[in-house]
Amino acid sequence: MKSLQALFGGTFDPVHYGHLIPVETLANLIALSRVIIMPNNVPPHRPQPEATSVQRKEMLALAISDKPLFTLDERELLRNTPSYTAETLKAWREEQGADAPLAFIIGQDSLLTLPTWHDYESILDNAHLIVCRRPGYSMEMASPKYQQWLERHMTYKPENLHSSPAGKIYLAETPWLNISASLIRERLMKGESCEDLVPESVLEYINQHGLYR
Ligand code: ATP
Repeated sequence: MKSLQALFGGTFDPVHYGHLIPVETLANLIALSRVIIMPNNVPPHRPQPEATSVQRKEMLALAISDKPLFTLDERELLRNTPSYTAETLKAWREEQGADAPLAFIIGQDSLLTLPTWHDYESILDNAHLIVCRRPGYSMEMASPKYQQWLERHMTYKPENLHSSPAGKIYLAETPWLNISASLIRERLMKGESCEDLVPESVLEYINQHGLYR
């Protein structure tokens, strides 16, 4: 069996320790040797990121420059159309073959909204879901139907992520970090410090480019 690969998608406007630390811990917990970070394009009907695609990508590149666990994948940015996770995972599956174990990493907030995502049921056909804890979000899905969907797919054994190609949901015991990109944008707008929330190289980039003022 091939080794488990994991994709971590998001807007990353900007990338912060709430993204990096839980995923680094996760990699140690479940023996992940590589995580592919994939910044997305935001659909036109949703609020647009403040930083451009290039700036979000450049901030990510700085944040991971000393972290060999991570690689950057620009496929969604280069596509220049809205990013649908279901479509991206379908294409990734075709690329990697039917047997490769693939996972998509999300935070608890994303798990709660996942049933509203385009073609959400196909996501588990193509990948496992690994969920990182995030403070302030319910541990229960919004409806019994979605709670049943979660319980039907949930596994408590990380080995199952390595030994099957897709279809499981694993709730990882990662650290709770009360950090969000919105909080960072808000603090920067008020001129407050974000040193404890964002890597130094990313903060320097934000200052140099006058972002989030
Ligand atoms: P915003 O505040 O602008 O909504 P965000 O901080 O949630 O942004 P995203 O880029 O939207 O960041 O998130 C990318 C992924 O990282 C999502 O799956 C999200 O759930 C997860 N994530 C973000 N922050 C945390 C955190 N503090 N702990 C765990 N997961 C997180």
